[in-house]
Amino acid sequence: MEKDKTDGPAKETAVGRVQFFDTTLRDGEQAAGVNLNVDEKLQIARQLARMKMDVIEAGFPAASPGDFSCVQAIAREVKTSTVCGLARTREGDIRAAAQALAHAENPRIHVFIATSPIHMEYKLKMTPEEVLAQARQGVLLARSLAPEVEFSAEDASRSDPEFLIRIFRTAVEAGATVLNIPDTVGYALPEEFHTLCRRVIEGVGAPPEVIFSVHAHDDLGLAVANSLAAVRAGVRQVEGTINGMGERGGNSALEEVAMAVRTRRDFYGLDFRLDTRRLYPVSRLVARLSGVAVPPNKAVVGANAFAHESGIHQHGVLAKRETYEIMRAEDVGSTPAVMVLGKHSGRHAFRDRLEHLGYNLTDTEVTRAFEIFKRLCDEKKDATDGDIEAIIADEIFSAVQPEFRYEFKEYSMHVGGENTTCTVTLSLEGGDLTDAATGRGPVEAAYAAIKRIIRVHPRLENFKIEATSERSNAMGEAQVTLAQDGIKAMGKGASTDIIKASIRAYVNAVNRLYSTAAVRKVTLTVPAAPGSAAARGKAGEGASAR
Ligand code: MN
Repeated sequence: MEKDKTDGPAKETAVGRVQFFDTTLRDGEQAAGVNLNVDEKLQIARQLARMKMDVIEAGFPAASPGDFSCVQAIAREVKTSTVCGLARTREGDIRAAAQALAHAENPRIHVFIATSPIHMEYKLKMTPEEVLAQARQGVLLARSLAPEVEFSAEDASRSDPEFLIRIFRTAVEAGATVLNIPDTVGYALPEEFHTLCRRVIEGVGAPPEVIFSVHAHDDLGLAVANSLAAVRAGVRQVEGTINGMGERGGNSALEEVAMAVRTRRDFYGLDFRLDTRRLYPVSRLVARLSGVAVPPNKAVVGANAFAHESGIHQHGVLAKRETYEIMRAEDVGSTPAVMVLGKHSGRHAFRDRLEHLGYNLTDTEVTRAFEIFKRLCDEKKDATDGDIEAIIADEIFSAVQPEFRYEFKEYSMHVGGENTTCTVTLSLEGGDLTDAATGRGPVEAAYAAIKRIIRVHPRLENFKIEATSERSNAMGEAQVTLAQDGIKAMGKGASTDIIKASIRAYVNAVNRLYSTAAVRKVTLTVPAAPGSAAARGKAGEGASAR
């Protein structure tokens, strides 16, 4: 907390202090349908560093070349938080992690192997002795390549506690200084998990420079409760994600753990370095870039987290705030007033607003966003926070590798119920491509026309459109998820014209589909042209978007 004067991450053993380990960019990104590009990941990493996150797990470098370059980019830029890369115990994984972290100021390699009977027998097909040997080798190699190594016993909550003690002792002997106890499948219960952590911490009897860590999943809605039970048992690093984002039920929501430890300092007696006033802006940024919305009633960062509706409560809060409020909105950086910028707002005010919303853009990006903002003000006089966020998501972060980039130029529509016709023009490498198609409504017709141009036929997995504010002149922000050849991509588009927003989102998703395919070395299947031998007998497949 305030006591900490150093800018760098804590190196000393945290007595009376808990560290936070953010895995939004690694475990969080495993959430279904989420794929962040390198610019988006950097943007989130910068904000995590700015909020003084102790450790940022930037990715799993051996997983893909894309993951590798994201970890590398974050390691190069983020200097005030430890940057961590995940690795299995195999040599290739550990070397990839070390290489991706080569330019990090404070690198950490996070080595893991499963320790539960079910994982060892069916997934790893190894005996417990083989797993022990692998753990030792993995940590030894990692420690020879990085100054700090974390070891995780995957599925610890379903492992034999005596085996956990043995493997953690082995990891400490091999040089690990952070020992993680994950509840990988979200199976643990708080009282039981507390007992397990206590037993393991006492059993390992590690030297004081070693700290224990917890990594909980929310399958039973207990991730935060289990993390706090672990803290109470002596664990001093909590892993989790912003907004609890993650696959299945998600991970432990870091903002909730942090505010519980802060609000109930009387109970936990612990401090931390994290600047909680950045929680709300970072939550908004992650929600915006990932496309995973925060429910209004979400603890700490939900839109209604500090809204009192009942008369009795309002009366109480007005008389004395503490009657019904245990935290202040300011403490999590959630400012209720929506500031509206208009035609006459300058670049400086615009930049200030971006900062407040959690964005840290380069001068070129600010200039580009400001131009679009000015054009928007010509159309609708002013812009809310939601409008500005939509512009950034659409215009700044939609950039992908230029060789695959389709750009939307224009469309025209003839609305006629069942026979609505749309003509769309996209450009590819400077050349314009135009085609038209019919659909049962404007969006279906527009998407059918785009499919004729792009030739690939991705499956539309999700489509939604929302207003960027509650005002009648709000912009429409569309979100589209496409899937093809095992790849999923989500795109966003914003405009005062909702058809244009829908088209932009689709084209953005197509661009991401191509860039992800390129990274994974997958060639997207192009269906046979209509009229060809292969296409006959597949009537009805043609131009209509289903
Ligand atoms: Mn996990």
